[in-house]
Amino acid sequence: MSPGTRAAARPADASAAARRRLLAQLPQQGVTDPQVLAALDRIAREQFVDEAFRSRAYENTALPIGHAQTISQPAVVGLMTQALFEGGARPRRVLEIGTGSGYQTAVLAALVETVFTVERLRPLTELARQRLQRLGFRNIHFGYADGSLGWAPYAPYDGIVVTAAAREIPQSLLEQLAPGGRLVVPVGPAGSQLLQCVERGPSGPVSRTLASVSFVPLLTGKA
Ligand code: SAH
Repeated sequence: MSPGTRAAARPADASAAARRRLLAQLPQQGVTDPQVLAALDRIAREQFVDEAFRSRAYENTALPIGHAQTISQPAVVGLMTQALFEGGARPRRVLEIGTGSGYQTAVLAALVETVFTVERLRPLTELARQRLQRLGFRNIHFGYADGSLGWAPYAPYDGIVVTAAAREIPQSLLEQLAPGGRLVVPVGPAGSQLLQCVERGPSGPVSRTLASVSFVPLLTGKA
């Protein structure tokens, strides 16, 4: 098979039914944007988990990816991605903090021109880079760094998605948004996190709450 995103578009037959079931559930969980649903359909989540979890790839749950981290829940990936597009917004350059498995990265890269993604754990960033290159993505820039302060050299971004929970809305990330850009970030301690979408409006940031979520914490430094 030739390399390319099409490679990710051909699920093993065995998982096809589980995959269809998951897709059918997503609208009830609030994921209704047709282009986001199409991207979730196109990216085979089984390619982003270890062999041992492959049979569970289409459960709507987070799964372990090693190093005490998890691949995000598909419905939450959908909600976060959808928030960038709501109201007809057309983000072109998006920053992701927390590459992890690269699954959210792939969903974003299927929808926007360029994705910048930062990860603080070297083994995860390397695995995700190899995986996404093998799947044929050519519009992703990988950073191995503490992303809690964003990625200033490439700012501003039309969207920033943080896939680990912050204690409060990170001001440094808001500053890296283009006017009208949106920051989607889980905020709060374990057990009571809320997914927030903050838009950089003409008269200051405007936030709203999207869902109650459960993410690993946003940490500082790199390892
Ligand atoms: N989007 C990923 C989610 C992985 S879990 C996926 O779908 O697989 C969250 C990730 O955020 C972890 O890989 C963790 O190492 C990373 N992370 C936590 N704090 C970070 C920081 N300050 N900078 C960059 N990455 C961070």
